[in-house]
Amino acid sequence: MKIVCPHCRQETPNVPEEYLNMEIECPACHKAFVCEKPKFCSECGAANPAKASSCVQCGNAFTVPQPTPIPQPTPIPPPIPSAPGFANPPAPLPPPPAAAQQSDSLGILLGKLSLVIGIISFVCLPWIYGPAAVILGLIALHRKNESGITGLILGIIGTVLSTILVIIGICRG
Ligand SMILES: [Zn+2]
Ligand SMILES: [Zn+2]
Repeated sequence: MKIVCPHCRQETPNVPEEYLNMEIECPACHKAFVCEKPKFCSECGAANPAKASSCVQCGNAFTVPQPTPIPQPTPIPPPIPSAPGFANPPAPLPPPPAAAQQSDSLGILLGKLSLVIGIISFVCLPWIYGPAAVILGLIALHRKNESGITGLILGIIGTVLSTILVIIGICRG
């Protein structure tokens, strides 16, 4: 390894790698400096002290090595200065998704069932399927599922219509 003295810019070849980052004394000017790998000029190839801002030989200005931007991971919440004995507050747990989803899917199922039974009530046994569709629709609505309203309405219409038809039939009969 070749090193360059930052004081007198004396090049010292064949320095063992073990001296890297160690404080050594320049053999020429006897000043102490931290042994660093030299910076080689991109223009003339001359070895320069690691902290040199321009080439000693040709004056080529080195681009100042920007401190490598440390990739910021997910912003870590600032450490809460917790007094000894006080545990950090537990991270807020997300709402249990399984239970919510289950009740929601049950509401959808009830809404669909109410709709199907409401349709059936038009075809047969309206006094059985009609109220059933109404009840299921109400349950689905109670579960904040809007699809239940269709079954509810169909059930009501089916029940009312069939009742009217039966009344008309009785009156005619
Ligand atoms: Zn020196
Ligand atoms: Zn140069």
